[in-house]
Amino acid sequence: MKKITKLILLLIVTIGCLSSCKKADPLIDNTEYGVECEAQNKYLLINSTGFQEVGKAFIGTAGMVGRYLRLYDLDSKVSSVLCSDPSCTHDSNNCSAYLNSGQVSYYDNKIYYISNDSGNYSGDWILWKEDITGNNKTKVKAISLEDVIFKYQPQQIVLHHGKVYLRGIASTVDGAKPEYRISLLSARIDDNSDYQVLVDKTISSGVSTSWRFVGDYVYFMIKEISQDNNDVKITIMRFSTVDGKEETVYVESGITDKVADFWVTVNEVILLAGINENDHPCLWKLSNDKRETVVLWEGIKSEIPIIMEDIAVVSYYVDETRYIYIKDFDNDSVYSGPLFVNRAEGVDKDLGTQGYGFAVVGGDKDKVIINLIGLINERKIYTILFDLKNDMKSTVLWTDGN
Ligand SMILES: [Zn+2]
Repeated sequence: MKKITKLILLLIVTIGCLSSCKKADPLIDNTEYGVECEAQNKYLLINSTGFQEVGKAFIGTAGMVGRYLRLYDLDSKVSSVLCSDPSCTHDSNNCSAYLNSGQVSYYDNKIYYISNDSGNYSGDWILWKEDITGNNKTKVKAISLEDVIFKYQPQQIVLHHGKVYLRGIASTVDGAKPEYRISLLSARIDDNSDYQVLVDKTISSGVSTSWRFVGDYVYFMIKEISQDNNDVKITIMRFSTVDGKEETVYVESGITDKVADFWVTVNEVILLAGINENDHPCLWKLSNDKRETVVLWEGIKSEIPIIMEDIAVVSYYVDETRYIYIKDFDNDSVYSGPLFVNRAEGVDKDLGTQGYGFAVVGGDKDKVIINLIGLINERKIYTILFDLKNDMKSTVLWTDGN
């Protein structure tokens, strides 16, 4: 019950009143971005922020408290808020680009995101869609507060292959013992309120889940931590988006290495990030119930690698300066050195120091996108693209906060 109260409070704090702004001329011509996309394998699925690559633009969010849907156009190098009202200053929850969840999906030429209904702070969650210009905002589906949000407590909502997927972890208490209800639900992208329950399990040990969307499959990992000895058990399942077939593709228990998140490549190779018994960051390839080291950062200790499309990143400090070491899945180095070779244009601060938190958004062999989060001198998030083909040239895609 405590969790639910917290959830409601969080909603009240973060949900904005989404007023219907006066429609103006589109900021950007919609036809420039006619690429059909789905859940993307290049970018991590992060709770607090969202990111999608759409043709020659990036769309996403960065903020911690108020989040505004933003667009960066690679051709014009212009960063804008996806708000349809030219007189709006995008600094309150009255802005039509204000979201209560950072997550953004892009599907069939539309941006999809979750927010509340206008002025209704405690009601159902709404799945909205709109054009990439920020115009034509339409309600797609109400997600019931009672039947879905309270019951399953969705942590992430993602669109893939014509369906919306919800990944939930609800904590419950049975006597003195905490329990967790983990779930994976899917529903059609329409106003129907029926959900297909793919996973619904109650687990008494510490548990976390994550997922990947690749082609015709949804991969779902359950990571359980034994209360007796902290051993880890991982189970990876996959669900066909074509015929709904469910398979368990990998199970391992009694893991004593420190394991983090998993990844599935476009060729459906399953990788797991972690730290091996010698305290070095590594990636394991999982196949036929065997875990085999394929990438290893021998000179670095205790840092967890972050995996994306075809590279993985480890970050560490040398004195006060942040370094990164990027490798591909053949264990070859893509870049190793200071994160900032030069300061980003227009930024007068040194973002590569200990005053800035570091969160990888995603990328590939050409580029890596990183959020740098001001912790000491400023409360500001910078979403920055580093060009791996051009000496780590850094470009600020957008900032949030002050
Ligand atoms: Zn606005």
